[in-house]
Amino acid sequence: MASVEFANVRKSFGTHPVIKGVDIEIADGEFVILVGPSGCGKSTLLRMLAGLENISAGEIRIGGQVVNGLAPKERDIAMVFQNYALYPHMTVADNMAFSLTLKGAPKSEIDKRVKPAAEILGLTHLLDRFPRQLSGGQRQRVAMGRAIVRDPQVFLFDEPLSNLDAKLRVAMRAEIKELHQRLKTTTVYVTHDQIEAMTMADKIVVMHDGIVEQIGAPLELYDQPANLFVASFIGSPA
Ligand code: ADP
Ligand code: MG
Repeated sequence: MASVEFANVRKSFGTHPVIKGVDIEIADGEFVILVGPSGCGKSTLLRMLAGLENISAGEIRIGGQVVNGLAPKERDIAMVFQNYALYPHMTVADNMAFSLTLKGAPKSEIDKRVKPAAEILGLTHLLDRFPRQLSGGQRQRVAMGRAIVRDPQVFLFDEPLSNLDAKLRVAMRAEIKELHQRLKTTTVYVTHDQIEAMTMADKIVVMHDGIVEQIGAPLELYDQPANLFVASFIGSPA
């Protein structure tokens, strides 16, 4: 686990500024949700944290270390995307183990990591199946499994549930929270869904057009929204 900090982070695409000076402090083990309307810059922030996008100015720190110059594989992070593409020709076990296989980890170590991860996610009886033989929820669990086996310092989720139907989405929210309570890995989770943010987060970061409007616990934002944007976005009657 590690803390994560954004310090006056900026990002422009060409001349177009999309992140306009963002400060966020995330403690070790915290579950933080970035929420805001489509296009406000959530994915860009996450991608910068993962090292998939350069930052134009400011600093990002993981565990106190500035990571601005580090490539994705030099950051101890695992990301779960919305389009959790699994390899169709590989079993669940091989999909989960893929990053370890790439690193040349021995089979004994791979087993030692995949088995407990599968158990946590209720995938033990499915390890020999192929993705096409799984339900949407099971596939989502495999995608999380791939992240867990890497035992990263930080988990990143970018709208991981938005392709699932409403019922499954609610169930998966609870599963992800349970997972976090078990592993206590620092998590940064992006969604445009207020309900998801209100029900899952230790702390919510409300974004709007490249800036942070407010950071606080769900109830804090609900009871004391900093401005009209937060009030209307979070759904407070204020
Ligand atoms: P969100 O995830 O909150 O929906 P994004 O971070 O994807 O928002 O995008 C923020 C803004 O940056 C949007 O205006 C988007 O069009 C723009 N943007 C994102 N990626 C690129 C890119 N690679 N090139 C140019 N503009 C981009
Ligand atoms: Mg996005």
